[in-house]
Amino acid sequence: MPQHCDRCRREAPTQDSTAFLDWEAIGDGSDVRCPDCVTGAEQQAVDDDMMDLQQAADDAEFRRITGHGGALG
Ligand SMILES: [Zn+2]
Repeated sequence: MPQHCDRCRREAPTQDSTAFLDWEAIGDGSDVRCPDCVTGAEQQAVDDDMMDLQQAADDAEFRRITGHGGALG
């Protein structure tokens, strides 16, 4: 019985196929994720991290310039 991508439900190649190497096993391996969905998830995570870092940098710069938020006032 073929496995399917847990996100887009695309049918996975057989596990002895080289194409299956691009798929990622989820959890105990009973679920799999296709290369497209793996890449998409990773890309989304990277984007979120970059947004957080930029926001933190902006906040720090704002406090430095205005003097607000500093312990010494
Ligand atoms: Zn998929």
